[in-house]
Amino acid sequence: MSRIYLDHASTTPMRPEVLEVMLPFLKEQYGNPSSIYGEGRDARKALDQARDKLAKALGASPREIVFTSGGSEADNFAIKGAAFALRDRGNHIITSAIEHHAVYNTCRYLEKHGFRITVLPVDSYGLEDPADVEAALIPETNLVSIMHANNEIGTIQPITEISKTLRERKVLFHTDAVQTVGHIPVNVQELGVDLLSLSAHKFYGPKGVGALYVRRGVRLDPLIHGGAQEHNRRAGTENVAGIVGMAEALELAVEEMDKEAQRQRELRDRLIKGIMERIPHTRLNGHPTKRLPGNVSVCFEFIEGESLLLNLDMQGIAASSGSACTSGSLEPSHVLLALGLPHEIAHGSLRVTLGRDTTAADIDAVMEVLPGTVDKLRQRSPLYDADALRKAH
Ligand SMILES: *Cc1c(COP(=O)(O)O)cnc(C)c1O
Repeated sequence: MSRIYLDHASTTPMRPEVLEVMLPFLKEQYGNPSSIYGEGRDARKALDQARDKLAKALGASPREIVFTSGGSEADNFAIKGAAFALRDRGNHIITSAIEHHAVYNTCRYLEKHGFRITVLPVDSYGLEDPADVEAALIPETNLVSIMHANNEIGTIQPITEISKTLRERKVLFHTDAVQTVGHIPVNVQELGVDLLSLSAHKFYGPKGVGALYVRRGVRLDPLIHGGAQEHNRRAGTENVAGIVGMAEALELAVEEMDKEAQRQRELRDRLIKGIMERIPHTRLNGHPTKRLPGNVSVCFEFIEGESLLLNLDMQGIAASSGSACTSGSLEPSHVLLALGLPHEIAHGSLRVTLGRDTTAADIDAVMEVLPGTVDKLRQRSPLYDADALRKAH
């Protein structure tokens, strides 16, 4: 039986075209882009072209792109870099309650180093209210970090609305766009952000490479000290093959974006409808329409998400209980708790994320096994029995 991979928010398979453009830089074209002889100049040229492509796809200029080792580094660089560079002006940072751990734990770290963090709540759909952001601003606020779309529940935030206020108040705005770049339109001018994180392996590029968009004139302390690469913003010999692959992956993703997003939205809504109609005691997490094209996130009452995942895995389906970072721990996801879900319901979460290889037949296959699997697990739950009994009386 062939496997059905439905965890594209964790990572995506690399496109063959991407591997193809990377291979020469892993073989014969091994020059260091900082070297001035021919081999080095060839690598530099490839790097420049990749930077141009990436900048064009985001509406940025090439000088505003800093290559990193991925989304986590881009988030760390944006937040720590801004916090330390602007420390003499203030020590206050605003973020949301549903950020990825790369943002959330970076803010927690800064708190230990004397920074003040305000964590804004979200509504039951996971939406941030721009008025709440404005109300939380104080003269010491240097940075606001709010993600473009959430990796667990798929909710897309009103980034453009939030940025309007922050522009007027001259407060730096960072957004983690790791889940949106390559999937829905992302233009740094339209969003009005100063810093934006992205990661190649979330849009069919290689793992271990990403970028931070840094608006011209924004001061950041470096995270990695050393040589003068990336205009003194990030030391270390560049991952040339990875960067070339990332740029190709993004270019291809942008080309097919409108069609592919629409295709995934239809499959997504079909799966959501099937689950809600056929499985009782189920809750949809996230916003019904302001959500990522490929994201389905639900909570089933009276079951353990982990047991459900293992059962689906045995039946050939790879899905997730939420973020890759929380599975394996017994704590329910901070994102689901921030929506106001009680612990016992947050424990029964399932995230199915579709990709460009997902077909209608895959969705049908999920619907063939999911209702029975949920029911089987519920039959073993003492809580489910008690609830059924209570209703019978
Ligand atoms: C995957 C992800 C990250 C981390 O990116 P890596 O490249 O895996 O370090 C950060 N933020 C969000 C929203 C993500 O989905």
